[in-house]
Amino acid sequence: MASLSGVAAADVPRSMEKIPIVGLGTWKAAPGEVTEAVKLAIDAGYRHFDCAYLYHNEGEIGAGLQCKVTEGAVRREDLFITSKLWCTCHKKTLVRAACCRTLKDLKLDYLDLYLMHWPMGFKPGEEDLPLDHNGMTVPSDTDYLDTWEAMEDLVDAGLVKAIGVSNFNHEQLDRLLSKPNLRFKPLTNQIECHPYLAQKNLISFCQSRGVSVTAYRPLGGSSEGVDLMDDPVIQSIARKHQKSPAQILVRFQVQRNVIVIPKSVNPKRILENIQVFDFELTEQEMNDLLGLDRNLRLCAFDTTKNHKDYPFNTAF
Ligand code: NDP
Repeated sequence: MASLSGVAAADVPRSMEKIPIVGLGTWKAAPGEVTEAVKLAIDAGYRHFDCAYLYHNEGEIGAGLQCKVTEGAVRREDLFITSKLWCTCHKKTLVRAACCRTLKDLKLDYLDLYLMHWPMGFKPGEEDLPLDHNGMTVPSDTDYLDTWEAMEDLVDAGLVKAIGVSNFNHEQLDRLLSKPNLRFKPLTNQIECHPYLAQKNLISFCQSRGVSVTAYRPLGGSSEGVDLMDDPVIQSIARKHQKSPAQILVRFQVQRNVIVIPKSVNPKRILENIQVFDFELTEQEMNDLLGLDRNLRLCAFDTTKNHKDYPFNTAF
């Protein structure tokens, strides 16, 4: 791994919700690479880590976190660790065990934030993606409002400090916020967001209701046949600031007060993605980036399209 000597660790501002505004994504971070990536990220100034049961690497992430806490590089209370409840565990009776499994893997006593990964429940069982003979995901008959109640119990039990949602459209979020006897509001809605899917309406809705937004897939991810970082508008802004296209994409979210979680296991890119606090995009540049919006969803989760709670059939 690259040495950090001579590189100042980024002092990462916190969002309105006290979540460090830039975090490290961990989807597809290979188990063999992610422990080192987490350690390097902590040295670089990352304090926020975005994890999930589904990524099947929480054990290796936990090893990296534990190593840095044990050596005194960081205190547990200065870290912000998020994980997510997978869709096969939406039944109220399954929620606590799912959370405890994640805690055990991450080697933590508590999570800072636990998200409902999707509003959709799937058939419980060992398979993450139970499929029917047409290749479509087999649903459960759960309602995300009931699942939310079981997640509220996790806060009472001290297993998680806060709870939130992911991939909720504005109607689903509104239904949750309007739930009678809602005891804990969602801290964030984690959604796909980048200039090709700018999410202006959903971000305005969330922020107006006091729910922060976290942008996933902020760099456009990989291997989707779309390379955001090749976009001429993004490249030209990057050249002007002598920054990389990835840094422009991260900074774009920071300036919208949107929490952003780029994933990398590459030492150079881990550093690069958090060094976004020494420049500012102009209003014109922000508008040019917003002007790239083409409602292009990269994480459409097509096998769930028939689910009663599929979130992407409404405008936002
Ligand atoms: P990202 O937009 O973060 O892109 C990650 C890809 O970009 C990887 O291939 C990475 O490769 C590469 N990359 C990283 N930094 C740079 C850079 N500076 N220059 C060039 N390439 C770079 O996609 P993700 O889908 O990973 O989204 C981020 C995180 O959001 C996930 O890891 C996960 O934590 C979360 N997420 C949540 C979802 C949800 O449903 N709630 C769905 C999808 C993601 P390399 O590692 O080699 O650097």
